[in-house]
Amino acid sequence: MSFPLPEETPLSQPYWHALRQGRLTFQRCRKCRHAWLPPRAECPECLAAEWGRSGVRVNAVSPGYTLTPALQSAIDKGQRDVSLLNENSALGRMVSTEEVARAVCFLASEDASAITGANLPVDCGWLVTPSWHTYGGLRPARR
Ligand SMILES: [Zn+2]
Repeated sequence: MSFPLPEETPLSQPYWHALRQGRLTFQRCRKCRHAWLPPRAECPECLAAEWGRSGVRVNAVSPGYTLTPALQSAIDKGQRDVSLLNENSALGRMVSTEEVARAVCFLASEDASAITGANLPVDCGWLVTPSWHTYGGLRPARR
């Protein structure tokens, strides 16, 4: 099974070029210089400030390791160790594609009508775990 790749644009070309070389690269917002991966010419905060008075809300969703069909296939083939992927998330699992979609739908809905300039991590707590490694790792589940 193959999946379509995102279209390579002049904006994303440096990102895809670096990925082909086995490197990750970040791109900085042209206005505030905040670093983003994948590349964005401008960040949600800057775009929200620019477009808010025109009635446009700008938000972003940043998924963590998402159990896509491609990732499931790699796990099934033994190419990815699911325990390593789950180990570093606060919830101990990966994100489902449905959870990413629900976050996008929420931000686009009237329930989020007062939210703009947000970057919503949908990552099962992957971003919050690195500081815990300083203290010996995440705590075991509490019962
Ligand atoms: Zn910015």
